[in-house]
Amino acid sequence: MTEPREGPPSALPAGPAPLVDVLIVGAGFAGIGMGLRLEREGRHSFTIIERAGSVGGTWRDNTYPGVASDIPSHLYSFSFRQNPRWSTRFAAGPEIRAYLEQCVLKGGLLPHLRLNTELLQAEWNQDEGCWEVETTNGVYAARSLVAAAGRLSEPKIPAIPGLDSFPGPLFHTSRWPEGIDLEGLRVGITGTGASAVQIIPQIAEKAAGLVVFQRSAPYVVPRLNRRYSVRERELFESRPDLLEASRDQAFRQAEAGFPSRLGTEPDLSDQRARWRNHLDAQVEDPALRLALTPDYVFGCKRILVSDDYYPALTLPGVTLETSALVSIEGRRVAARNGRSHDIDVLILATGFHSTQQPFAGRVTGRGRVLLADHWSNGMTAFASTVVSGFPNLFIIDGPNASLGHNSAIHMIETQIDYILGALDHLARHPGTDLDVTAEAEAAYSRSVDEAAARTVWLTGGCRSWYVDERSNRLTLLWPGLAESFRTQNGIFDPAPFDPAPAPGRGEADTTTHTPHT
Ligand code: NAP
Repeated sequence: MTEPREGPPSALPAGPAPLVDVLIVGAGFAGIGMGLRLEREGRHSFTIIERAGSVGGTWRDNTYPGVASDIPSHLYSFSFRQNPRWSTRFAAGPEIRAYLEQCVLKGGLLPHLRLNTELLQAEWNQDEGCWEVETTNGVYAARSLVAAAGRLSEPKIPAIPGLDSFPGPLFHTSRWPEGIDLEGLRVGITGTGASAVQIIPQIAEKAAGLVVFQRSAPYVVPRLNRRYSVRERELFESRPDLLEASRDQAFRQAEAGFPSRLGTEPDLSDQRARWRNHLDAQVEDPALRLALTPDYVFGCKRILVSDDYYPALTLPGVTLETSALVSIEGRRVAARNGRSHDIDVLILATGFHSTQQPFAGRVTGRGRVLLADHWSNGMTAFASTVVSGFPNLFIIDGPNASLGHNSAIHMIETQIDYILGALDHLARHPGTDLDVTAEAEAAYSRSVDEAAARTVWLTGGCRSWYVDERSNRLTLLWPGLAESFRTQNGIFDPAPFDPAPAPGRGEADTTTHTPHT
C-alpha cells in the first residue's frame, strides 16, 4: 500500500483561492484526528496543510534511537480507531508513525492532504467571514481555521558560547541524522529530559565514551514494557471489549497519579517511593545516587519512565556531569563545574519552544491583532480552544490543553468534539461567526490559574516547559484530571460567544473566494 510519505508539492489551480469550510494546519496526531472526525461526520469540505513531506508530526520528526511513547499504546491511539495489533505495551516511534499513516490512508484523508505546504500567514477577513491563508504552496480561504501545529515541534537550541566552533556532528534530538553511526565515537549529550533518557541507553554501549550533561536530575520510574504475544493480539482483535478494557485501565491508572500533582498525601510519598526504590535498585554507588536525586518536588517536571536509563549511567564509559554544558571550544566542551571533555559528536537533548508557538506569529485576527501579541503574557483561550478576537479559529494542543499525567490523545479528542460542536453551530447559523468574548476568555484563564496555583507544577520548585517564562503562568498543562477537561470542555456551548451578528453578510458562497488585496 502506498504510504503518504514524501509526496510531491501539491499543485493548486491558478485563480481564486479555493474556499473550504475548514483548513487544518498540521498533519500530526491532532490534525489527523480532526480530519478523521470531519470525514466520518460527512463534512468533506476541509483541507489539511502540512509543511513537511509526510505526515506524523512528532512521530515523523523524532527518529532517534529508542524513540517510543511513555503512555500505553492502547491509550495512545484514537478511541474511534483503535489498534489491536500494537506489538508492545509502549509502542515505539516507527510503529506510531505507521499507525498515523494508516489512519490517513484508511480514513480517506489523502485527497484532503497538501504536503510541503507551510502556513505563512492567516488573516481574518471580517467582511467575508473567513480566514485568508497564504502558504508556501498557494492561498486558501477557509470559514474556520484549526491550528494543529503541535507544541513540541520547534527545537530549542541553547545559546552555548562556542557552539558554532564544534567541528563534529552536532544535532538536536528531533533532527537525528539518518544513518549516523556512533560506534567508537566520543559522544556528549546535553539535557536529561524524556528524549535523552530514551537515547542514552541506546548509545551508551556503542559509543567509545559518553558524557551526559545534566542541569537538573529527572525523576525516573519503572517502565515495565513488554511485548504482546500473538495470542494476546489475536484476542484484542476478536474481542474489542478486552481492548477497550485495557485502554480504560490505562486511563484510570494514569488518572490515579493526579492527586500527587496536588501534593496530596500519601499519594505524593507513595509515588516518590516508586522512584526512590527504582533508583536504589538500579544504582549501587551512593555518590551516583546522590547525583541522580532531583532537588525539586516529585512531578514538578515530567516524570520519566525507563528501565534502562539508570543502568546505562553505571556503565564504565559513561560520565555524568551534574551541571549544564556552558562552553565549547572546538571539540573541547566544558560543564559549569569546570570539568571539560573532548568529544566527537554533540547531541542537544534540550527540548522545544513550547510556550511561544511560532504559528502565533503568523495568525492575525480582528483589528489586525497578531495572536502572538494577544499572547504576549502567555497563551490563553476559552475552553483551551478559542481566543477572543480570532473568530472561527480553533487551537488544538494550545493553552492548558496538555497533560502531565495522562494521554495527550484524550485531550485532542475532547477538543475535536468541542470544535465539531462549534462547526455544527456555524452550519446552523449561516452568515455568523464564533468569536468568544474577552470576559469569557479572562474568566476561564482565572479559573485555570486558580487551579494551577495548587499544583506541584507551580509549587514544586522547578522550572519546566509547562510554565511561561514571561508570566510564570502554567500555560501548557491542564491543572486537573483528564476527565474533568472532558466534562468542562468537551461540549460546545454558544453562550460565551459574542452574540452580535456579522454585519451585512448573507449566506456565503461555498465554492471559491477572491482574497482582498
Ligand atoms: P525536555 O523535557 O524539555 O528536556 C530538555 C532537557 O534539556 C532538560 O533536561 C533541560 O534541563 C535541558 N536543557 C534545556 N536547555 C538547556 C540549557 N540551555 N542548558 C542545559 N540544559 C538544558 O525535552 P525533551 O526531552 O525533548 O522532551 C520534551 C517533551 O517531549 C517531553 O516532556 C514529552 O512530553 C515529550 N516526549 C515524549 C516522549 C515519550 O512519550 N516517550 C519522548 C520524548 C519526548 P532542565 O530540566 O534543567 O531545564
